[in-house]
Amino acid sequence: MSEVAAAVKPGRLWIGGAYVDAEGGKTFDVVNPATEEVITTCAAASPADVDRAVQAARAAFPAWAAMSPLERQRILWNIGERLMARVDEIATAETLTNGKPIFESKFIDTPDAAKCFQYYAGWATKIMGQTIPLSTGPFLNYTRREPLGVVGAIVAWNFPLLLASWKVAPALAAGNTVVLKPAEFTPLSVLLLAECAKEAGLPDGVLNVIPGKGSIAGQALVEHPQVAKIAFTGSTEVGKGILRTAADRVAKVTMELGGKSANIVFADANIDDAVRGAANGIFYGKGEICAAGSRLLVERSIYSDVVARLKERAEKSPVGDPMHPKTRLGALVREGQMNRVLDYIGKGKGEGATLVAGGERQPINGKGYFVQATVFADVRNDMTIAREEIFGPVLAVIPFDTEADAVGIANDSLYGLAAGLWTRDIKRGHRVAHKLEAGTVWVNAYNRYDTATPFGGYKESGFGRDMGPEALDGYLQTKSVWIDLSEDRA
Ligand code: NDP
Repeated sequence: MSEVAAAVKPGRLWIGGAYVDAEGGKTFDVVNPATEEVITTCAAASPADVDRAVQAARAAFPAWAAMSPLERQRILWNIGERLMARVDEIATAETLTNGKPIFESKFIDTPDAAKCFQYYAGWATKIMGQTIPLSTGPFLNYTRREPLGVVGAIVAWNFPLLLASWKVAPALAAGNTVVLKPAEFTPLSVLLLAECAKEAGLPDGVLNVIPGKGSIAGQALVEHPQVAKIAFTGSTEVGKGILRTAADRVAKVTMELGGKSANIVFADANIDDAVRGAANGIFYGKGEICAAGSRLLVERSIYSDVVARLKERAEKSPVGDPMHPKTRLGALVREGQMNRVLDYIGKGKGEGATLVAGGERQPINGKGYFVQATVFADVRNDMTIAREEIFGPVLAVIPFDTEADAVGIANDSLYGLAAGLWTRDIKRGHRVAHKLEAGTVWVNAYNRYDTATPFGGYKESGFGRDMGPEALDGYLQTKSVWIDLSEDRA
């Protein structure tokens, strides 16, 4: 094991502002997907542990909700400062568990998580109701926007720290307390977030972290009668199950689910930019990105040129040791995920798509769940690789003839998370952006994010929004207060 991996400390549960062991001392192994080595262990929360965390969050709620907004703002801002003060440690934990390049975890994910806390710090002092003119009589009517109570946040493994921050920061700004369940593969960076939050002055119990299996800890959190809301990021399949469970007790939910996003290149685009954007749209984050531009729709007149350039780019995007600062394509998160991706590559070939680049597992020193940057041409939108979320570095390139065709193919998907389009025609840029059924549309760009703007899905990609002012709506409820102003009757 490398020195860096050997320095990783075991993960435990974080409840009431301190590390504790799981009931019965249960643990699971934490694996480095680039080396296949067990780097440490982590406590596995049982339903009883989940209950302990919920009770800690419940106990902390009244004081946190009543704390002055300015004080909440100060603490949230400081969490961002603490994350950046410990960026090396956090990024290392992220890369060693997820397999993503250290370049991404250190220079993009952790800074973005810090910015997320600092953005919502500003909102803590700006959560306002309205005074409403009524026609019913002499009343003063106003609304208050109140927190929900204990929020259960459940997130996926692809951006462990960032996805957690997208939920924890607005939930805390709104005055809720949180029980967070990270994905089983990637618990470590989120535990460091909890440590940073304590260092920043967050009162004990306001944020609790319960690593463990989705089917045990996640399920117990969703079923817990004292959890007011579930904020979920993960697959559409698991999301549907959570919705069913939450329905039984009318728990509030927001759902950030899967995607099969279309990235459209019109013939009038700057082709160099479009090809760079298309490659970045699918190979960044190893393609384990919900908004990955996994379907590239290319106008027929430039189709073969674009495919040739993508082949060249894919072949110049080698996999590498995720801890090396120059690596841009890391290891997939787990063997199972790698096999799933390789299985889809097999289906692509089997259904008649043309493999133009990649397509193979490529271990480093005989180890690691690395898959080459892969490009398929001659893909039809009814092929499995165009319909199902692969969640890997696999691009399906589909030709189209007209703008209407492009929009039709793009929208012919169960999903609607994101889309991109490349054109020099400003009118077309706006027109097509308005017609695409997706929660985010990038024009002449792809995979851009900013905490200030909302992110979330249309159709089976979910509902509710992370980030931006809209995310706060998911963590607040509105109370209407009526004050009778009529004079006392004699
Ligand atoms: P999963 O849906 O398998 O898991 C997501 C989280 O849910 C994990 O913490 C998991 O725990 C937990 N979970 C699993 N089963 C249950 C259950 N029965 N009850 C409660 N919680 C449960 O997704 P992946 O982790 O595989 O992530 C990939 C998916 O996430 C992709 O579909 C991707 O598109 C989507 N995603 C969506 C984003 C968005 O913003 N729209 C952003 C990022 C990813 P455990 O790890 O133990 O299984």
